[in-house]
Formats: sequence, structure tokens, C-alpha cells
Amino acid sequence: MAINAGSSSLKFQLIEMPQETVVAKGLVERIGLDNSIFAIEYGDDQKFELVEEIATHDRAVELLFEHLTELGIVKDYHEITGAGHRVVAGGELFKESALINDEVIQQVADLGEFAPLHNPAEAAVMRAFKERLPEITMAAVFDTSFHTTMPAVNYLYSLPYEYYEKFKARKYGAHGTSHHYVARRAAEMMGKDVKDLKIITCHLGNGASITAVDGGISVDTSMGFTPLAGLTMGTRTGDIDASLVAFVMQKLGISDVAEMVNILNKKSGLLGISGVSSDMRDILSAAAEGNERAQLAHDIFVNRIQKYIGQYIAVMNGVDAIVFTAGIGENSIQIREEVIKGITVFGCDIDTERNNTRKEAIISPEGAKVTVLNVPTNEEMEIAREVERLKQA
Ligand code: ADP
Repeated sequence: MAINAGSSSLKFQLIEMPQETVVAKGLVERIGLDNSIFAIEYGDDQKFELVEEIATHDRAVELLFEHLTELGIVKDYHEITGAGHRVVAGGELFKESALINDEVIQQVADLGEFAPLHNPAEAAVMRAFKERLPEITMAAVFDTSFHTTMPAVNYLYSLPYEYYEKFKARKYGAHGTSHHYVARRAAEMMGKDVKDLKIITCHLGNGASITAVDGGISVDTSMGFTPLAGLTMGTRTGDIDASLVAFVMQKLGISDVAEMVNILNKKSGLLGISGVSSDMRDILSAAAEGNERAQLAHDIFVNRIQKYIGQYIAVMNGVDAIVFTAGIGENSIQIREEVIKGITVFGCDIDTERNNTRKEAIISPEGAKVTVLNVPTNEEMEIAREVERLKQA
């Protein structure tokens, strides 16, 4: 089972390995709030939904296990032989996925300072799983591990150096599992060794980040100390001048920094600019109907991606491939075309016919200097594979 827990949510996929068949998937939302929802899809398009109070992550796990048997998805939840937990913040400690024991759970909880909404919830879900299935292989798969190879020149902020020494204040990045997977897959599709390539991976979902992958390792990435930095996202600002935080707080009479951080995380980005929606499909259709602010949100989104690609070509002093992935990257033929058509100066181009796809494909013209690819990501499957790998290690 691949598990992705957030502060008030828990997403899960039950996957049959090594066949990689998804047996069931679903989510629990609004944990700790009123009208919590548990929803699961399984079998041949069968669905089940329940609205009731789900006060804690432990209760969410209990409910999940109950329903796996009640709905006949498994005879007994002990049929589950492995669990992989996605963890947002691994700090400098976790350079790769780790087998879960009490010490690792505590370390994940302690790293909560870096991801207060995520790590404590993830630790709670690990505990809930371990109590019910103490005998199985459980792995923690970190969003940050892939980026632990970044050099100091790219991960350090230009702050007093002791903030790094004392507080570990630095760039950690995110979406590592996805960037790692699509970079490897792109190299395979090109028939090349990833070690010989300079790749820029663009993970464009609700959260969005871009990574410079040089010789198979992450050398720079757009998300920062937390996933707030970098590109314009669904509801997150991406990069802004830090002085604006103080300025806006003063203008709005906000004294609680957490309230301001919430605005930067939840009310900004595509939603904040457009006033329409955080969802790119809504933005595209509103823009097509002539909504100017939706058009502007779209333009800013594309512009930031282009700027980061330019930056990372400079960081690596070259580029062999540009990869698109995640909700927007995989599905928006239009956005891929717009991004690439605006930066042909770098030797990249798009083949309109090849780009007319939502599947894995090379979408640049034959013989182009830079290969552009669409590579659907699958973080849950990667997490399941990590569990299998660690089981055999
Ligand atoms: P998350 O970060 O929540 O995992 P996803 O990777 O699922 O996000 O991406 C969600 C985003 O993908 C939304 O903005 C959604 O509008 C966008 N998206 C999905 N399908 C399309 C499409 N056909 N065209 C444009 N955007 C799309």
C-alpha cells in the first residue's frame, strides 16, 4: 500500500506487486474537521463513500482497514505485505528511502519543523500502520531525498551562514520521487544512459517544481526550504520578494505570521491572480472566454516555467532534454507547446503532431538538438517499487 498523508487527508493505493496492478485507491479528507469523507474505488469501477466524523489519522487508518475487508477487497488486511509512506521533509538526514522502525518514525516527527502540516501526520499514520501490521515491510519515501545531491552553491540562501549551521535553513526541494522517476524514464526513452544527460524535469501539478538533473542527480530545484518557493502554483506564490511579506502584513493588519504564510500557501498563485480558480482547466477555459485575469494567471504560469528552464540551462551549462509531467504537464498540450515555443533560442522545439498526446512520448521534432518529452509520473507506483526494493535488499 502506498500512502500519502497530509495534515487533514490521507490518500492511498493498494497495489498488487510485482504486477503493478492497482487493486483499490481512495482518500480520506477533512480528518479532524466536520463532515470527514472516506472514499474508495475498487474492482470494476466500484465506488464506496462514507461521510462521518473522522477525528484522527489513526481512526482514518482503522476505517480504511475495516472497509478493505468489508468491501471484500481483501479477505483480511494482513494480506497487505508492505507499505510505503510518502514523507515531505527528510531534511539532510534521509538521503534515500528508509525502512521504518520506531527511531525513523521519531525522526520523521522531529523533522516536523520543516513541514509542520505534513511530517507529524505522516508519523501518526506510520504508527497506526505499525500497530496493526507490525510484521510487514514499511518504507518511508522522502520527497527530498533525490535533492540531497545538490551542491551548497545551489542549496544555500544568501543569509548569515550560521542560520544554516544552527538551524539547517537551506533549500531542500520536493517532488523528488517524481523528478527522479521521469528523468530515468526519459533517458530510457532516448536510448541513452542518464549519466550522460543534462535533463530539466518540469513537474506541473497543483504543486509545481522544476529540477536540473545532471548526470542522473539533482543539482538544483525550484522549491526551497518548503514547497512554497519556485514556480507559480495552484494556490502558492512561488518566488516572491521576502520584504513583501512584512509589507502586506502591515497593510492588512496581520500580526500572526502563520496567517500570512497561509495566504502565501493557500490564497495566492493561479487562484490569487485570477480570482477564478486554482485549477488549470478552469483557468484555461475562463481565459478562452476572455477573462483577462485568468489569461494573466496563465501567462505568469508559463513565464515562470520558461525562466526556470533558462536558469537551469545556465546551471548545467547545457541541456539535452526537457521533460513534462504531472496533471498540467501530462495533460495540457497547449501549455507544453506555449512553454517550448517561447524558448526556441535554446535549441528546443515542439512537433505539434507528436505533442498531441497525453501519453509517454517524445514530442520534439526528429533530430532536434534538445529532446522534449511527455512522461506521465506515478508517485504511488514509485513508492510501491521502493517498498519492493527495500524488501529484497
Ligand atoms: P497534485 O499536485 O494535486 O497531485 P495533479 O498533478 O493532479 O496535482 O495536477 C492537477 C492540475 O492538473 C490541476 O491544475 C488540473 O487543472 C490540471 N489538469 C488536469 N488535466 C488537465 C488538462 N487536460 N488540461 C490542463 N490542465 C489539466
